[in-house]
Amino acid sequence: MNFFPTPYADEILYSTLARYCIRSGNAREIHNFEDLFGTRNCIASLELPTHLDALINNMPVGAKYTAEDFIYQQTLFPFLAAFIPQDRAEKIIETMRNGEGAVSYIRIGLISNSITLNQYFRFCPECFKEDIERFGEPYWHRSHQVTGVFICSKHKIPLYNSTELIRAGNRQRFISASHHNCIVEKEINYSNDLMGKMLRMAEDVEVLLNNQFQFREPEWFRSQFRVKVIEKGYARMNNYIHQKKLKQGFIDFYGHEYLRLVQSTVPDKSGGWLSDIVRKNDRTTYAIRYLLLARFLGIPIVDLFNTKLGFNGEDENNIDAYQELWDERLLELAKSGLSIREIANILKSSTKTIRKAIDRLEIEEFWKFNGGGKYLHNKFTDTEEFKIKRKKLRARWIELHSQYPDKSSNQIRKNNDGVYAWLKKYDSEWMEKHYRRIDNKVNYVDWCKRDAELLPQVKKVVKEMKEGKPERITWTTIGSKLGISGWLSKRKEKLPLTKAYIESELESLEEYHIRKIKWGIAELERQRKEITLWNLIETAGVRPKYMKVILKEIQDILSERGYEVNFLKY
Ligand SMILES: [Zn+2]
Repeated sequence: MNFFPTPYADEILYSTLARYCIRSGNAREIHNFEDLFGTRNCIASLELPTHLDALINNMPVGAKYTAEDFIYQQTLFPFLAAFIPQDRAEKIIETMRNGEGAVSYIRIGLISNSITLNQYFRFCPECFKEDIERFGEPYWHRSHQVTGVFICSKHKIPLYNSTELIRAGNRQRFISASHHNCIVEKEINYSNDLMGKMLRMAEDVEVLLNNQFQFREPEWFRSQFRVKVIEKGYARMNNYIHQKKLKQGFIDFYGHEYLRLVQSTVPDKSGGWLSDIVRKNDRTTYAIRYLLLARFLGIPIVDLFNTKLGFNGEDENNIDAYQELWDERLLELAKSGLSIREIANILKSSTKTIRKAIDRLEIEEFWKFNGGGKYLHNKFTDTEEFKIKRKKLRARWIELHSQYPDKSSNQIRKNNDGVYAWLKKYDSEWMEKHYRRIDNKVNYVDWCKRDAELLPQVKKVVKEMKEGKPERITWTTIGSKLGISGWLSKRKEKLPLTKAYIESELESLEEYHIRKIKWGIAELERQRKEITLWNLIETAGVRPKYMKVILKEIQDILSERGYEVNFLKY
């Protein structure tokens, strides 16, 4: 090129290139492509042009343009790419400099978001007139070509479709704005309401076009929106967004008609772009939609990009209060015996959120046990399972206190929160009675009290050991049954009642074997098996060498029971 037209204010690059084509005097359009890009193998693209490095290389000597200047000042890139992550934006810039056109449209998501881009070049009749007065020729304005912008922000009047298709034919020519293609056939009149919304959008789009904001990850915008979504009462701190309420508020704010015009309707059913934008996912959507949401939530565009939004004190208090109400409601519903799913439905929340809250509020035990709604409409505390559970947890609480005689209930609770929380909730009277308070300064243990508490437990254990298959009764076996073998026999002097009882029940090895034999005989009778020495050895589990020692006693037992076998002959 031996000249390059100076771009006008708000002129899109396509238009500047079209002016070049008019002035170049080339007989055939395709020669203009060779001048501009050094190749015939490319197309005229309005929103995201390509081959910009070649264009810079072909500039006349002394021209000071850069590809980045064009991209930011004369294409729709700063608008279309405003909300995509940096790595993707950089790839699009690379494509615009050296790649093929379609790739940028895919990368920016214009294809996957099923946005129908404008069909025709657009113009403002007032700008058209002014441009001719001022520059002697009309041109395509960049801000007028944005899909979703319906108003000239300068003149505050509707934009009109020209008769020129943006994507027509082989796209190997650049077409200028002119009296032939910029005709107002029929005046457009929008309602005042629509005009207001359209004007605000036009202004927001201008802000994007005229700034080079930092690229941000989807998480950034999500968190920015979230702050305001919570502030406006559409969500709570615990991640739960009231999607239906948010959608309704959004629709009330914009109206269906306008949302249809900007291709951003919100579906009645779950999902849709609005839910996606505030939810945790990395999808990006059409830039217009971020602007719609920001405006709805009252976030200025500059703040959306540059100011990390947070909560001020007062809002935080409101949120706490809100949270409290929500928690209360959850507790209430939890007591009603509804399943997690049913509660999630009532609170318009996910089961995951409910589970998290249950965990936080320490009411999880109930559901774990409740089988997620097995006892629907039954009072939990009336169920048999409740009683079993209470018995189990009471035993566990006692066991923990036996295991750690020097620890207070407060200390024991720390590692056994579930047991404590459940009993505190469902068995609070019992819990109060069995709460061990220790004066930390002297670490005082009431051994008298403990002795008295331990005795019935030991009696119970011994009784159980005497029933069923015999086990030898010793300090160690009793201790391990109670989970206190670590200290029971060591502290026996401090437990006079328990000591006296255990010592009365202790068995010698011989006594123990005799008890085993008695049980073995009864067992053989029950199984209707013959009483032979070997059957008895096997069933009772007494080794032959010990049998010899007590053979006399065995014979006596058998004779007493009326058996005529003679074991003494062995
Ligand atoms: Zn205008």
